Amino acid sequence: HPVPLKRALISVSDKTGLVDFARKLDARGIEILSTGGSAKSLREGGLTVVDVADVTGFPEMMDGRVKTLHPAVHGGLLALRDNAEHLAAMQAHGIGPIDLLVVDLYPFEETVAKGASHDDCIENIDIGGPAMIRAAAKNHGFVTVIADVRDYDALLAELDANDDRTTLEFRQRQAQIAYARTAAYDAAVSTWLAGAIGEDTPRRRAFAGTLAQPLRYGENPHQKAAFYVTGENRPGVATAKQWQGKELSYNNINDTDAALELVAEFDPAQGPACAIVKHANPCGVARGDSVLEAYRRAFDCDRTSAFGGIVALNRTLDGATAEEITRIFTEVVIAPDADDDARRIFAAKKNLRLLTTGGLPDPQAPGLAFRQVAGGFLVQDRDNGHVGRSDLKVVSDRRPDDAELADMLFAWTVAKHVKSNAIVYAKDMATVGIGAGQMSRVDSTRIGRRKSEDMAEALGLAQPPTMGAVVASDAFFPFADGIEALAEAGARAVIQPGGSMRDDEVIAAANRLGLAMVLTGQRHFRH
Ligand code: 5GP
Repeated sequence: HPVPLKRALISVSDKTGLVDFARKLDARGIEILSTGGSAKSLREGGLTVVDVADVTGFPEMMDGRVKTLHPAVHGGLLALRDNAEHLAAMQAHGIGPIDLLVVDLYPFEETVAKGASHDDCIENIDIGGPAMIRAAAKNHGFVTVIADVRDYDALLAELDANDDRTTLEFRQRQAQIAYARTAAYDAAVSTWLAGAIGEDTPRRRAFAGTLAQPLRYGENPHQKAAFYVTGENRPGVATAKQWQGKELSYNNINDTDAALELVAEFDPAQGPACAIVKHANPCGVARGDSVLEAYRRAFDCDRTSAFGGIVALNRTLDGATAEEITRIFTEVVIAPDADDDARRIFAAKKNLRLLTTGGLPDPQAPGLAFRQVAGGFLVQDRDNGHVGRSDLKVVSDRRPDDAELADMLFAWTVAKHVKSNAIVYAKDMATVGIGAGQMSRVDSTRIGRRKSEDMAEALGLAQPPTMGAVVASDAFFPFADGIEALAEAGARAVIQPGGSMRDDEVIAAANRLGLAMVLTGQRHFRH
């Protein structure tokens, strides 16, 4: 049964489009009640409105903390219009029905995101707004709630189509949106408080995000999808500026995130680095004396797979690198910044998406990671583990030299970002063979080696670059066979967590085959 709208309460922080919208309500003969700032905007727009303070008989007080929290408002929102007792209570207490509620909330998430003070954030926790939204949404049998200023047009279209009334279907849909909004809002407050008190474990938390963008489709075209943001203050794909190119797809967002998180491991102060990602795995990672050189070296690792990849840089994209990148098809380039030359060169490539982040995420910062399972989801700390030289334990007879140690730490860092079982061969601060996502570690070892043979062929090298390379393994070697496969590939040093029941056998094999071996004591599974 469509419900006619006679009286509306409008209380919004975001005044965009407000006056125009209210005029259209006014033209339909709807009386408008409003709170301080909203009433002011509406009056300035030439509208006649009733102050909520006149309805409640109380002034807005305590910095606006108490404006609408009153039975004259909540009774008007919650009363069942077909219930004699409710109607009698309204009558007895002089409460008028409120048929339409238009409320957004104090911009809490935005306030946190811009780094406001603790007190400022507290003051931006809206209390009366969610209370009204939830009341109106509960009573959607009779009351229409608009909790998102982007839905003004949807309401007007609904009124047009239904003789100035709303249908139950519409009210239900808006109630559903309203509860999504208040749930996400409270989750944002909880997340912020958790951060403020240093509570970074995933326990006793609520999780929600705000819809940032509906996506054309998900991982596959038959899957619907959307992108939600949590408001976490971390440079990344969620907050990046897109300069050009088509809208990011679901897979683009996933892969671009993987690429940036990986390249962010390499401190830009210590030189340029580049990561090229395909299907969330790196197909080449390298440091270089220049951004261009880092890109070229990363590209050389697996020229075939790099086609249609995602390129992430840890420094500003320059013209020379942009020129080089445009030589093949690349889906996305993400970097802290891009200079004018680079932007001009990319402008000619309409399909290439360029994103700048303004900075790099801190790889050691705390944060949470999610994984969905049927009937629930898993939450854990993001893998912010880090090992430095002093954490390494040399267990082989041969001690690795400085250059080998540097390469081993490089390979180890890359391995952290490769799907398990991960095997990463590296030489001179560049990957030369990556084996990813295999069910057996020996298979990853073989794939990495085969990749390196392809690389030798593509670059016309006399021998596969795994000869004399170092190798990182994301988890321990359960048997000596993995070490034998590495030695066969010509590797000369291995970095791995250790901790297998057969570590003794594994170390003995390394010694027998002349490999240096260091243990990190930390594992980087990535499933
Ligand atoms: P205005 O700009 O109209 O003064 O304020 C609009 C904002 O006030 C809206 O975002 C609305 O959610 C919020 N609001 C409405 N009533 C109350 C209340 O009683 N307490 C608090 N804290 N916020 C309210």
